[in-house]
Amino acid sequence: MTDASVLRDFTQPDELSDLTLVISGTPLHVHKQYLAEWSPVWRQMFLEECSSPQGLQEILMPDKNLLEVTELLHSIYSTQKPISETNVKFLLELSEEFQINRVKERCEQFLVNQERSLGILVLAEKYKLRSLYKRCMEYAKTKTLEELDSSPECKKLSQETLLQIYHDKIDMLREYSKDLTQRDRKTKQDCETLRMEKENMKRSLQSIQKLWEVPSKRCFRHIADSAFNYSCPECNEKIYFEIRKLCGEGQHLRRYFPKSQEKNS
Ligand SMILES: [Zn+2]
Repeated sequence: MTDASVLRDFTQPDELSDLTLVISGTPLHVHKQYLAEWSPVWRQMFLEECSSPQGLQEILMPDKNLLEVTELLHSIYSTQKPISETNVKFLLELSEEFQINRVKERCEQFLVNQERSLGILVLAEKYKLRSLYKRCMEYAKTKTLEELDSSPECKKLSQETLLQIYHDKIDMLREYSKDLTQRDRKTKQDCETLRMEKENMKRSLQSIQKLWEVPSKRCFRHIADSAFNYSCPECNEKIYFEIRKLCGEGQHLRRYFPKSQEKNS
C-alpha cells in the first residue's frame, strides 16, 4: 500500500494495476475497479469490453494532456490531491467528460471559496455548477455596463446568462432608486423639522431681547425709566431669572437633536 501523503507514480505498475492509459506515448498504470467507482463513463467502457478474452487492457488517449490526466488521477486516488488554481480548470473539464461528480463537486467547492469573478461565472455556466453560478451572478450584476462590455470573459457567456445579468441589474437599480426616494423623503422631513425649530428658536430669542424693553421686568424703582439700568443689581437679578426661564423653555424647542447631544451642551 502507498502512503496517502506521497503521490503515486502512475508510470510504474503495481501488483494490482490492470489497465494502462496511454498519453503521448507514456503509459499510466491504473486500476479498473477504482476508476469505475469514480466514473460511470469508464465503468461503461470497461463493461462493454468485458466480452473480449482479457478485457480492456489499454486505452489510448491521444487528445489528452499527460500532466492534466495525471493530476486527475492524483485527485481521485487515495492521495486525494487538493483542487487548486492551477488544476481546477482542466479537472472540471475532465471530470465533466468522465462524469466524475465528486471531483466536480470539489472543484465547485474550491471555486465557491475563491474571490468572485466573471471568469468563474463562465466556468459555473459551462459546467452547470448551480450554487457557484448563483454566487457569481450576484457579483456580475454589480459590474457597470462598460465593465461587462469590455470583459473578454463576458463574451464567453450565453445570451441567456447575459440577459439574466441585465435583468438582475435593472432590479438592483430599481431597489436603489426606491431607497433614494425614501432617503429623499426622510431628508425633506428632517429639513422641515429643523426649519420649524429654527423659527421657534428665533421667536424665543426675540422674546428674550424684548425683556429689556418691558418695564414690568424691572425692579419697582426703575419701572418708569425709559431704558434698562444695567447698574441696578435688583433689575439685573430680575432679568436674569426671566432669561433663565426663557432659555429653559428654549431647550424644549430642540426636538431634532438627540438627547445625548443635549447633555453635552
Ligand atoms: Zn432697578
